[in-house]
Amino acid sequence: MVRVRLAPSPTGTLHIGTARTAVFNWLFARHQKGSFLLRIEDTDKERSKPEYTQNILEGLQWLGIDWDEDPVIQSERLKQHQAAIQGLLESGLAYRCYASEEELEAMRNSQKAANQAPRYDNRHRQLSSEQEAAFQAEGRQAVVRFRIADDADIRWNDLVRGPMSWRGADLGGDMVIARRAPADQIGDPLYNLVVVVDDAAMAISHVIRGEDHIANTAKQLLLYDALGLPKPEFAHAPLILNGEGRKLSKRDGVTSINDFREMGYTAAAIANYMTLLGWSVPEGMNERFSLGEAAEVFSFDRVNKAGARFDWDKLNWLNSQVLHDLTPEQLLDRLLPLWRANDWIPPDLDGWSLEVCALLGPSLTLLKDGVEQASPFFELPPLEEDGIKQLNLEGAKPAIQALAKALEPEPWDGQDKERAQQLLSDAAKTARVKKGMIMKSLRAALLGRMQGPDLLTTWGLLARIGEDLPRLRRCLI
Ligand code: GLU
Repeated sequence: MVRVRLAPSPTGTLHIGTARTAVFNWLFARHQKGSFLLRIEDTDKERSKPEYTQNILEGLQWLGIDWDEDPVIQSERLKQHQAAIQGLLESGLAYRCYASEEELEAMRNSQKAANQAPRYDNRHRQLSSEQEAAFQAEGRQAVVRFRIADDADIRWNDLVRGPMSWRGADLGGDMVIARRAPADQIGDPLYNLVVVVDDAAMAISHVIRGEDHIANTAKQLLLYDALGLPKPEFAHAPLILNGEGRKLSKRDGVTSINDFREMGYTAAAIANYMTLLGWSVPEGMNERFSLGEAAEVFSFDRVNKAGARFDWDKLNWLNSQVLHDLTPEQLLDRLLPLWRANDWIPPDLDGWSLEVCALLGPSLTLLKDGVEQASPFFELPPLEEDGIKQLNLEGAKPAIQALAKALEPEPWDGQDKERAQQLLSDAAKTARVKKGMIMKSLRAALLGRMQGPDLLTTWGLLARIGEDLPRLRRCLI
């Protein structure tokens, strides 16, 4: 039975790396008809916040990632973590280390001076009970360390990276598994220990996480053995890199799923793109897919070992595809809240808002483009440089004047396109200009600029709310 988990720490909003790990776990679980679970790793009391947990859960839901059981809250499992540490102490696989911060720092400094990699030198591994008593009498507190034999030969078959091996000597010396506390207590248990205890308790079959956890996996495998627990399989997904090939970080501007949401990306495009960050589609499959479609064919052999470069063009392409495929009704559902946030209330005219959506939909890359591009339908657009230039061309104003004159006694209803064409031809004739001149000038008058969607539809929408004639007049003053 496949059981996987995402184990986010609620010390910040849902990070893109965590979300991508969630996607891979979810795809694997769904492909295998297994379970996808959540564990909230909230043991860092100072940095963990309930609002971050909320944000992470909401972000996953937004992406379309559902989970199968109530999330496990790590801080509620303190007793089990302490019991595991107690067991390791009793069996001699772990011990108390009284080295003070100053001593540890002096040790690191001398290693640095000798050009050695920093590591704990295992100095308190074999304290006699007299030595321990002396440290305690001094009032020293102790961390708990887990013994790591230098000659430990750690191996696993990584589902992404293949055979992996690690030497105990390269793990930085005996590892701290509980923070400093008085010697008759067990201090706060630390990450590697609690993850192993919890993964085993949750019967996790596959641990799927980012490549930055590879050294932790080596340490955790030693703990599984020491605790006599069955080991899961491991898969390490490649890191997400920025355009320069470095790990994507805060400096790249966006790291949280919120950021992408606020920039106007759709959940479908983000989920699709995150899957492509490290996974390649099987031959014949389109790169545009839903998570469900990807789950049908997901396997680790198509997960790349090399880091995945973040490619904005591809994300934008996917997002535009998602937006272009929305029906006007679906697009309106998404745009309406954004319009309302600008105090733009669509007129109560049958089909008007849907027509705006149908008009703008095909040119949107981001949802927020549907705000920018809808603006002339709700607000008087400023006359921009290219618009002014057009209106200053010879014949432009006479053409606008002729059109305005024809509209004054009988405004266009915005729907009868034949009449609109006729109005344009007549005005062109009156002003003795080509039809192209009046069309371009009309665009400049209505939108203030030369770029925009289909002219007759735009004019029609503005005519229906009585906004065309005032804009024509504005150019004539
Ligand atoms: N809380 C850890 C993290 O967010 C979990 C890592 C793991 O999956 O074991 O990085």
